[in-house]
Formats: sequence, C-alpha cells, structure tokens
Amino acid sequence: MPIEDLRARQRQSIIRSQQHQLGLDCSRDMEMKPENIEKLQTLHGKNWHQSAANLPDGWTEIVGNFFSDLDDIGDLVDAVSVRFERCPDGVRAFAFPEMSQWHPQQMHALRIAQRVLLLKSRETCEWCAKPDAEPVPLGERVTLFLCEEHKAKAEAKLAAQVQAFDERVKFRDEMATLFQPMSVMSLQVTDLNLPILRKALRDIKRIVEERNLVGHVYITKVLEDEGQLFITARYDNKVDPATNYEIEDIIHHAQWQSDQLSVAASKEDGNADDA
Ligand SMILES: [Zn+2]
Repeated sequence: MPIEDLRARQRQSIIRSQQHQLGLDCSRDMEMKPENIEKLQTLHGKNWHQSAANLPDGWTEIVGNFFSDLDDIGDLVDAVSVRFERCPDGVRAFAFPEMSQWHPQQMHALRIAQRVLLLKSRETCEWCAKPDAEPVPLGERVTLFLCEEHKAKAEAKLAAQVQAFDERVKFRDEMATLFQPMSVMSLQVTDLNLPILRKALRDIKRIVEERNLVGHVYITKVLEDEGQLFITARYDNKVDPATNYEIEDIIHHAQWQSDQLSVAASKEDGNADDA
C-alpha cells in the first residue's frame, strides 16, 4: 500500500477514535446532576424509574414534563411502568400500562406524551437545555443533541486534535531523511514530549546533513511509555565515534528532559487527587 494511502487511513482512524472519545467525554460532562435527579424523584416518585437518572442534565426539564403528563393522565397510572432509553433519534420513554384497565383516551394521551418527549429531546441541548439543538454525530455510535454553542465547542475540540495529528505528519515528512525509506513510523507523541522530540530530531538531522551522513544514521524507534519518551538510533560503520557519541548525547538529553517532565506531571496529578 502506498505510504499516502496508509497515512490517509491512519488519519481517518485517528479522527474516528478521537470523535468517539470526544463523544464519551461530552457524555460524562453532561451527566444529570444529583440535585436534579433528586428533584425529579421527589416530584414524580410514583412513576420514577432509575433509567431517567442516566439521561443528560440538559434534558431534566423535558423529562420532568413527561412525568407531569403521566401524572395528569389519570388514576390508573399506577399500572404504568416506564423506562427511558436514549436512542440515535432522541430519548424514548417505554411505558407499559395494563391496557385492559386503560381508557383509549388515556392510551392516546400517553402516546402524545411519548412523542413530545422524543421531539423535545431532539431540539433541547443535552448540555445546557437551550432549545435550538440539532443532532451532532460524534463517532459511529454517539449522536449528541447540542445547541450551536456546544456544537461549536465539541467541533473545535475535534478540529484541534486533527490539526495536532496533521502537524505531526508534516514534521515526520520534514525529518524523512532520518528514517529508513520504507519506514512507516509515526511521530504521534503527546503534547508534553512533542517539543523535546522536535528539538532532538532537528539537531540530529542537522549533524547528519552537515557531515554527509544521510543514509548512515537512522532513527529506528520513537516511543512513549507512561509519558516517558524513548528514542533509538542505528549507525553504520561510516559514522565516526565522535558523531555517534554526539547524537547519543542528544538522545540521552531528550530522554532525561522527558523523564523530568513526566515526573513533574505525575506529581501534579498526585496533588490534584489530594485536593
Ligand atoms: Zn448547549
């Protein structure tokens, strides 16, 4: 497969996985607040179902309205068990009354309430409850209903991640002489290590080009392990010991810097956990 195709595929799969992750992150940010769950439970205890607590916070009011509609339907409503499910087209309430006890008018009112909930969920931002939402597909399985502001926020996040990927590909191309011709190694390191890696590879490239050693020094491995950057180079016998030593020194310095940063970052995480 030509390298361009491989890149395009990598890029597509990165975009897909970032979208999916972003969808999950957003869903977590939008979880229904405990005080809202409590409020719904208190107001509508008779028909309350735990599945309502899994719905996003922005939908609290429309779910509350649905419960109110149920309450209004009549005294046979005791026979209802209701369950909520978020579907790609909005939130669906499944209600199973004991039909034999219900008047057709009550069945009709129930269907209308279910329909209103579904339609309202499509137009109500899951994040902030603003009524101008539209469906925003994030990844293959997640569709969120977001207002313009939150849609823009989600899309800007995704665009920044894709741009970061493209920048790394561009940098990889700039450094092409340091990699074996058929190498497909990518330089997708985290933001923390990227400046360190950039500086190290640029310094190595400069030495290799100045001393006519293109094709004699190759970077064979760039990897991150728990935030720590590792770089491996291979030299053939045209490379003099002084150059070899100089390049190894650049690599060691980069790895040392990365080690310092990852220690500092994990300390910061630790402090955040303590707080
Ligand atoms: Zn919103």
